[in-house]
Amino acid sequence: MIRDILRFKKNHYDLLVIGGGINGAAIAHLAAKRYKTVALLEQGDFGSGTSSKSTKLIHGGIRYLENFELDLVYESLRERFLQLQVAPHLVKPLGFVIPVYKGSGRPLWMMRFGVFLYDLLAGPYKVQPHKSLTAEEVLELEPGIKKAGLQGGVIYYDAQMDDARLCLENVMMAGEYGAHVANYAKVVSFLKENGRVVGVRAHDLLGIHEFEVRAKKVVCAAGPWTNELLRLDAPRAQEKVRTTKGIHIVYKGQISNHALLLGSQSDGRIFFVIPWMGNSLIGTTDTDYTGSPDNVKVEKEDMDYLIHESKRVFPGLEFDREKIVTTFAGLRPLIRKKGSPHKVSRKHLFYQTPSGLISVVGGKYTTYRKVAEDCIHKIWGPLEGQSFKVYGSGMIQETAGTVAGRYGLEKDVVQSLMDLYGSRYGDVLKLIEKDPSLKEKISDHPSVIKAQLVYSVQTEMARTVEDVTERRLSLVFRGPVSESCLTAIYTTIASSK
Ligand SMILES: Cc1cc2nc3c(=O)[nH]c(=O)nc-3n(C[C@H](O)[C@H](O)[C@H](O)COP(=O)(O)OP(=O)(O)OC[C@H]3O[C@@H](n4cnc5c(N)ncnc54)[C@H](O)[C@@H]3O)c2cc1C
Repeated sequence: MIRDILRFKKNHYDLLVIGGGINGAAIAHLAAKRYKTVALLEQGDFGSGTSSKSTKLIHGGIRYLENFELDLVYESLRERFLQLQVAPHLVKPLGFVIPVYKGSGRPLWMMRFGVFLYDLLAGPYKVQPHKSLTAEEVLELEPGIKKAGLQGGVIYYDAQMDDARLCLENVMMAGEYGAHVANYAKVVSFLKENGRVVGVRAHDLLGIHEFEVRAKKVVCAAGPWTNELLRLDAPRAQEKVRTTKGIHIVYKGQISNHALLLGSQSDGRIFFVIPWMGNSLIGTTDTDYTGSPDNVKVEKEDMDYLIHESKRVFPGLEFDREKIVTTFAGLRPLIRKKGSPHKVSRKHLFYQTPSGLISVVGGKYTTYRKVAEDCIHKIWGPLEGQSFKVYGSGMIQETAGTVAGRYGLEKDVVQSLMDLYGSRYGDVLKLIEKDPSLKEKISDHPSVIKAQLVYSVQTEMARTVEDVTERRLSLVFRGPVSESCLTAIYTTIASSK
């Protein structure tokens, strides 16, 4: 992808999308696929907002059954099936064990009925059928969890994803279909004619200058920043988004064999312990947040909550804070409604201001394709049975061993390229054909070669060290990134300027 700010000035687009999170990326992708001229502006890096801070599940959302949101679960389960098909390198099946203890707010019969209903709603689109478990079977699967009071449990199946890369692959698809996209380009005001929004003025945060982009339609997919954008449109605009904060801890080592769905004792909420890149992802919280989305961060009390609740389930684990690999906080951009945060629906809707600005409100990551489809539908009418693909979709025809032999690479290097880039792994190998020195490994766990850094910068538009360590290569979830690796990333970015 090319980041060329001059192109934005020269064009009058059919559609301008504000925000390069998953919703904005997918809207730009589907609009460009429909032969519309599209511009996408993102103030930070693609996916750097909520779309890289999720629990990383493509799921029906078993807990929404408690709120009787059968239609949302039904829709999400179909999206889950589709994402497993189109992005098998980024979305993978995952088993979830639910241990049930005596006196828990959710008794065993309820859990059994819940997973039965979940699979029933999935119908032919289920990942794998659920199973009821005795207490002994639960302990066989998860020997580390508390034994006292364990009555039994269930195992059911959902999917886990790499949220930042799935978002990026939608941006890349938009680019492939001809959209003009830029990260580090912040919308600072709206251009109006006769009271109608006809474009935006944006700040190129890398070039330190402002530029204008004109479009027939403008969509705001700014997630937690939506209220700010609505105030740029009309200073006294009513807030449409309710932001609730969720944090995660990545704890060293895999403390469970499966993902675990657990009920917290302090407030009855559900939280997860999930194997993630060799470590354990623990989360999340759900508390109202009223500050600027720019300042959201993990507070001590958020961490204490998760550590306290996890300790209860893993009595043998010390939970040494030194073993926290990383933490992250994100904001859910929910439909503005009263009630406790976890009861607010995760459905999406569109809000159109009198000036014609269309905003996406609500939704969950899992339903992003549907959000995009509904948005395009709203603007230009129905999409007729279009297929959906992301950048790395498609069959991998060769084995890692065969490719490794041809390029003189280790097999695990090629395998990790296939795992990360799907069918596009060959794009990284092409860089090696031109410059064999790019075969050099800069990290063993995970395996990363220099060519990937060049690819991150030249093709995937990474502009900062964090873009690479957090969202292109997910190094931060594995453990401390070595000095030599950071230097190699920094040098690659600097030399491409
Ligand atoms: C803790 C947590 C866990 C979650 N877990 C899951 C899960 O496991 N599964 C699931 O399905 N969903 C999950 N969700 C929900 C899901 O992550 C969100 O619904 C989704 O990521 C929202 O995407 P978005 O594109 O609307 O927002 P964002 O990803 O926040 O994108 C909005 C973008 O707009 C940009 N922007 C803002 N203002 C401007 C401006 N002025 N100019 C240019 N760009 C601008 C921002 O920088 C941002 O990148 C979770 C959410 C949270 C908070």
